[in-house]
Amino acid sequence: MSNADKLLKSIDTFIRKAEEGKEDIADILPDDIPELSKIPELVEGFEKLTAKLLRQQRKFFLDAFQTFVSKDDQITLGAMLNYFQSNLFAADEFAALYGVEAATFLTLTTEGLAKVIMESIDEDVPFQTLSKRTTNWVESWSTELGEIMQLNTHKAIESELIAAIQNGESIQQAELRLKDLPEFDRKRARATARTEILAASSQANWESFMQSPAVEGKKWKHSGSKKSVPRPSHVAMDGEVVGVDELFLVDGEFGMYPRDTTFSAKNRVNCGCVIGPVVNQDIIRLSPEEKEEIRQQVLAEMNE
Ligand SMILES: [Zn+2]
Repeated sequence: MSNADKLLKSIDTFIRKAEEGKEDIADILPDDIPELSKIPELVEGFEKLTAKLLRQQRKFFLDAFQTFVSKDDQITLGAMLNYFQSNLFAADEFAALYGVEAATFLTLTTEGLAKVIMESIDEDVPFQTLSKRTTNWVESWSTELGEIMQLNTHKAIESELIAAIQNGESIQQAELRLKDLPEFDRKRARATARTEILAASSQANWESFMQSPAVEGKKWKHSGSKKSVPRPSHVAMDGEVVGVDELFLVDGEFGMYPRDTTFSAKNRVNCGCVIGPVVNQDIIRLSPEEKEEIRQQVLAEMNE
């Protein structure tokens, strides 16, 4: 295995363990890659910020609920549901606040990982800046993620209120249902932070391979997960090479890398496969100036 391959395998193992969420993230840091030491702090920081925003969101809804009750103690749950649907959901600021935090987190982690990956591929061409294609991805994905999370919270509130109405529950019982919603708890913050470090890692791979002149392709490497029997379709992908900006075809589905969200669950769940760079040694041997010139050309195209 080349240095770059070893590094990518370690990053992947580290991130997948983090995603499983059983251990403290600082304890699973690979000792042999000190440059990665900032990543666990970033993941933990993002988890805390997310948890704080979820607590604020919970408080916003519960305060509004209580204010509405205090104005009219004969209030029905039907009127309460209507109040949420026609006023409170629109006033929720979670998605906007979370989107900003997610963008910062994805930028810092993608940059940090790209720095380590590019150095392992070719020290002559160190990471300098993210391309516009990646900054655009950060912006659109962080916005979308905030909106998806907010929508799921609103749907959960609606179903609790509807269930309370159907069961003929009291206002107090309905309030308890909202207080206990798992959508507001720390576990959700932890799960999202850990899923997003995986997304940042995939994007960092792509960015690094694109910007490294010597990388001519990306190679799929099958790697089993302890949790599951290997998929024959993924075993068959082992060694498959496509261009860095091209899609892999796996079992009738296209994706840029293992666990890409464009794959359906049958290809994503418990997949431990990784990608490695296909390096052209003739290009590695070019002068640093020549390689930098190639990188600048590619970067200009990525910034269009
Ligand atoms: Zn796989």
